[in-house]
Amino acid sequence: MRSSGEQAKFRRDVFTANKQHDVTGRIFLICYVCNCRIDPASEFWDADHVIARHFGGTEGKPICKACHKHKTATQDVPAIAKSKRTSDKHFGIRRKKPWPKRKFAKPEPVE
Ligand SMILES: [Zn+2]
Repeated sequence: MRSSGEQAKFRRDVFTANKQHDVTGRIFLICYVCNCRIDPASEFWDADHVIARHFGGTEGKPICKACHKHKTATQDVPAIAKSKRTSDKHFGIRRKKPWPKRKFAKPEPVE
């Protein structure tokens, strides 16, 4: 887990690298997925790792909350989970299996 200082630095770097301004001088960001315009002063926005941090990605781009949630749930989390499963299999780590079911019938109670 990153410290909040590192997170803030990443966010600031993404902001300074991607901020744009229109003719009135208002600063805005563009979501790199849906190309919507984000007003960072009044709307929530996220700084997204284009390649997930788990895979060593360091490049950040601004993204709107809805796109970020969708990207994380449909692309990043499944890809990371799959890579962990594959890695575990490679190193011979497997989930503990329950004991096999009883193979013999219980003896009838003797009266
Ligand atoms: Zn978006």
